[in-house]
Amino acid sequence: MEFELSDELQAMKSAARTFTEKEIIPHAGAWDEEHVFPLDVIRKMGELGYFGCPIAEQYGGTEVGYLAQCLLCEEVSRGSSSVRVAFNTQCMGTALSIMLHGSEEQKQRWIPPLISAEKIGCFAITEPNAGSDVLAMRATARKDGDGYVLNGSKTWISFASKADLALTYAYTDRAKGSKGLSAFVIDMHVDGVTTSVLDKLGTRASPTSEIAFDEVRLPADALLGPEGAGVKIVFSSLNQTRLSCAAGGVGLAQACLDAALQYCNEREQFGQAVGKFQMNQTLIAEMAAEIEAARLLTYRAAWQKDQGQLGNVLETCYAKYITGLTVTRCAERAMRILGAYGYSTEYPVARYYRDAILYQIVEGTTNIQQMIIAQDQLGYRKANR
Ligand SMILES: Cc1cc2nc3c(=O)[nH]c(=O)nc-3n(C[C@H](O)[C@H](O)[C@H](O)COP(=O)(O)OP(=O)(O)OC[C@H]3O[C@@H](n4cnc5c(N)ncnc54)[C@H](O)[C@@H]3O)c2cc1C
Repeated sequence: MEFELSDELQAMKSAARTFTEKEIIPHAGAWDEEHVFPLDVIRKMGELGYFGCPIAEQYGGTEVGYLAQCLLCEEVSRGSSSVRVAFNTQCMGTALSIMLHGSEEQKQRWIPPLISAEKIGCFAITEPNAGSDVLAMRATARKDGDGYVLNGSKTWISFASKADLALTYAYTDRAKGSKGLSAFVIDMHVDGVTTSVLDKLGTRASPTSEIAFDEVRLPADALLGPEGAGVKIVFSSLNQTRLSCAAGGVGLAQACLDAALQYCNEREQFGQAVGKFQMNQTLIAEMAAEIEAARLLTYRAAWQKDQGQLGNVLETCYAKYITGLTVTRCAERAMRILGAYGYSTEYPVARYYRDAILYQIVEGTTNIQQMIIAQDQLGYRKANR
């Protein structure tokens, strides 16, 4: 076992920390308050290769791997949980799926502009009646000549209103059940695609939208993989977006701890720094230890993927599950330590608190992670198949 990051990985993490401190932290509060989508910063991250870590060099990637991607995502999320969403829209939920399942022509066409962030991506799975129950989706793509006609609606789709393309899923043959679900890469600027932005509690610099597909004509080469491969692609994709989500949760939890530590040393009550009170020390110790556990689980899952174990659903679920719990607990503890100043919009902790709960909702809720883990342990359904 090796627990040390290589010099190269440490240098990448440290450079991402400097980038975040300079380019993200000074603006993150205002972006959130004013619902600004920081396209320029996302493009800079693209230019720096942040979204290409697990992508082959021939498509513009850096091939430095999943652990590298996690380190960058963690650091960026320390500054803004909204900006970290880009790791999934530009890579893990889009470019990576295209690399794993697409034709050579699709890879060359879509991956380079996604990972450079020249084009903004989104992945559209969720529908009004299909959240955790992914296969309950109702969107259909009916065959029409060589191509397809897409109808249906998606909801809660990150970056959809800004997206140039979407990886989406629709039934090409309902009679075949789950084997009739197919995946498509679609141009979001064609006739029949409309989006409307949803308001939400947190992560407000990452726009989230409904998408309506109304008789959208798709060329034959919009189909990703063969017809009926949608189930395989969607669950494989969720297993990768989940990892990046866990890394983002670790970063946000660390931001909560950093804020709590700073405040503990600055704020005095009863003639001493509030960090001297054992009750606050308990909160700090719990935060630090739980973050370390979540971080190690996340790095382990990333390391496995770097060894070629992309189907490590169980270990990725462990990471996402523990991180989701950790980040929400850390946000609550930071809030308790900062007292009224935590509740104030002048300090970032109120934003962290609003952002944290998302990690128990997206990429499979906490219940869904628990279900996958329990069914594996009970032998009902192995997670890694
Ligand atoms: C800010 C934001 C961004 C998002 N971005 C995207 C995106 O980019 N792309 C995308 O496709 N989706 C996205 N989503 C949607 C997200 O993936 C779903 O919200 C999530 O999958 C849960 O679905 P749901 O909200 O419909 O909850 P539901 O599935 O309706 O669940 C409701 C409750 O029931 C529980 N539950 C459901 N089924 C079970 C079960 N079998 N056993 C036990 N408990 C269960 C859930 O855990 C939850 O507590 C986003 C959501 C948000 C809020």
